[in-house]
Amino acid sequence: MNTQSQPAIVPARAKPIPSATPRAPFLLAPLSYPEDALEPVISAKTLQLHYGKHHKGYVDTLNRLVARTPFAAMSLKELILATAEQPEHADIFHNAAQAWNHSFYWLSIRPKSGDVPPEKLKSRIIASFGSIEALKEELATAATELFGAGWAWLVQDGDRLRVLKTNNADNPLMMKLRPLLTIDVWEHAYYLDVQNRRADYVNGILANLLDWKFASDNLRRS
Ligand code: MN
Repeated sequence: MNTQSQPAIVPARAKPIPSATPRAPFLLAPLSYPEDALEPVISAKTLQLHYGKHHKGYVDTLNRLVARTPFAAMSLKELILATAEQPEHADIFHNAAQAWNHSFYWLSIRPKSGDVPPEKLKSRIIASFGSIEALKEELATAATELFGAGWAWLVQDGDRLRVLKTNNADNPLMMKLRPLLTIDVWEHAYYLDVQNRRADYVNGILANLLDWKFASDNLRRS
């Protein structure tokens, strides 16, 4: 997914806009690393199921739901904004948002990153949180305390960075916030590896897998 190009913002309650260029079927983007590359934090078995079954399932279901409807003409982000908080389109919203969230998640982590945020992002983190460690603590708290299924996010909100948690398929795009990185805290993301110990999975990501360059590249130019 090209996160650099931001689609035109569609009002949350806009009707689907037919386009000469159909966007569906949506594709499951390939992972940029092998299935065992995130071990020991995320096992190959978890990655096979999470990417190959759960993420693929959202994409396949979405394609089935939008087939031969005006929604097929919209980009994934346009679909999310057009169907958010509309009960009659809840199925499309859930699958569109989960398809987008997972693509963003696979890019938010990478094998053995072990690096530090690029200077541009680092200065923003220090201005908003005080230190990298303080940001990590806030992300850990959001990710471990979120009740049930959902996502923890680092987002850009104007000049500030914030940590956000969202339930189920919800994401920052719906709130007109710019996501920089995310951690999936649905049970399917970690249960095979650490069972109920979500904090072990979250701390493993925070210590070893965050792709700070991806997060930095997502900053809006100011
Ligand atoms: Mn997931």
